[in-house]
Amino acid sequence: MNRHPNAPQQRIDVAVLGATGAVGQTFVRLLAGHPWFRLAEVAASERSTGRTYREAARWIEGAMPDEAAGLNVVPCDPEHVHAPVVLSALDAAVAAELEPMFARAGRLVLSNAKSFRMEPDVPLVIPEVNASHLALLETQRIKRGWSGGIVTNANCAATVGALALAPLHEAFGARRVFVTTMQAVSGAGYPGVASLDILGNVIPYLGDEEPKIEREMQKMLGRLGDGAVAPAPFVVSAHANRVAVEHGHTVCLSIEFAEKPPVAEALAALRAWTGCDAVRGLPSAPVRAVRVVDEPDRPQPRRDVNEGRGMTVTVGRVREDPLFHLKLVAMGHNTVRGAAGGSLLNAELLVATGQLTA
Ligand code: NAP
Repeated sequence: MNRHPNAPQQRIDVAVLGATGAVGQTFVRLLAGHPWFRLAEVAASERSTGRTYREAARWIEGAMPDEAAGLNVVPCDPEHVHAPVVLSALDAAVAAELEPMFARAGRLVLSNAKSFRMEPDVPLVIPEVNASHLALLETQRIKRGWSGGIVTNANCAATVGALALAPLHEAFGARRVFVTTMQAVSGAGYPGVASLDILGNVIPYLGDEEPKIEREMQKMLGRLGDGAVAPAPFVVSAHANRVAVEHGHTVCLSIEFAEKPPVAEALAALRAWTGCDAVRGLPSAPVRAVRVVDEPDRPQPRRDVNEGRGMTVTVGRVREDPLFHLKLVAMGHNTVRGAAGGSLLNAELLVATGQLTA
C-alpha cells in the first residue's frame, strides 16, 4: 500500500479500555501490526487488573497477538493509562463516568458506548458518511473546557443501516425508513447471551437497541450546522432481533423517498457511491464501504461478513417495495465495522485531518 501523505512519522501510542471484552479483543486484533498506532496499554475492570492480558482475556478468535499477551492489565483510570489516544470498548454505564475523565485529562477518546452519542457537541461518525461532523470536536472542547475529547461511533446495526442508506439518501432523499434487524450474538458482548437462550431461537427484544437505531441513523445522515447536527428529515421505525449467528448483523430496510426512484437508478447510486474523499488511503478503509451483490440469496453472514476485512457492508436484494418505494438487505460485521474497526477508522481520519498528532 502507498504511504498516506499525512501518515504519522512514528506510530502513536494507544490504549484500549475494556480490552478483555468482545469489542476490546477486536481492537487488540486490529491493532496488531497497525502502521499508525501502537498498542501500549490494555485496561479493564478490577476483575482483570493485576494480571497479564494473556491471563485476563478469554481470547475468542485466532491467536492472541504477541504484543498484547505480555501487557499488564491496568485500571481504566487516566492516572494508570498514559496513551494520548484511548480506544474505549467499555459498557455504557462505566463509559458514562470514565470517558469524560480521560477527555478532561487531555486524551482523545474513541468510544463505542451509547453514553455520549446523542450529545449535541459529540461527533457520531462513520467516516465515509459524515466525516465533516468531526468539526463538533472543537465545539465540544470549548463548551466543556476539555483539552481532549470524545468521538463516538454508532450502534452496530445503525452503522450497517446508515452505510446502506447513505448513497440512496444522498441521491433521492429518504422520507420514511422501516428497519428489521437480525443481530449476531457477538453483538451482546462476551460471554454474552446464554446458549440455551439463543440456540434454535430468536429474541425479539434487545434492550434499547430500537431507539438507538432510530435516532442514530438520523444524526449520522443529518447536516452539520452551527455547532450541532440537524437530524436527517426521515423517520425510522426499527425492529431489533437477536439470532443464532456468530458475527454479522443483517438489516432489512424498506425506504420511502421524496419521489420513487427506479430500481436501476438506486442500484447505480449504490454502486457509484464512494463516500467522503478524506477516507481514501486510510489504513483501515476498505476499497468499497458498500458492495452491491446480485445473487438473489445474498448477503449472508457466513459468506460475506469478512468482506473488506470486515469493513465493507454488503447490500443485496434491491427491489421495489409495495408499501414504501424500495427494499433491500444489508449486512456488516458488528464488532469490526460496527465497533472496533469503525473507531480505528475514526482515529485514522483524525490523524489524516491533522486533529490528532503524535
Ligand atoms: P463485553 O464483551 O461485555 O466487554 C466489556 C468490557 O468492559 C470488558 O473488558 C470488561 O472488563 C470491561 N468493564 C466492565 N465493567 C467495567 C468497569 N467497572 N471498569 C472497567 N472496565 C469494565 O462488551 P462488548 O460487546 O465488547 O461491548 C463494549 C461496548 O461496545 C459496549 O458499550 C457496547 O454497547 C458497545 N458495542 C458493542 C458492539 C458489539 O458488536 N459487541 C458493537 C457496537 C458497540 P472485565 O473483563 O475485566 O470485566
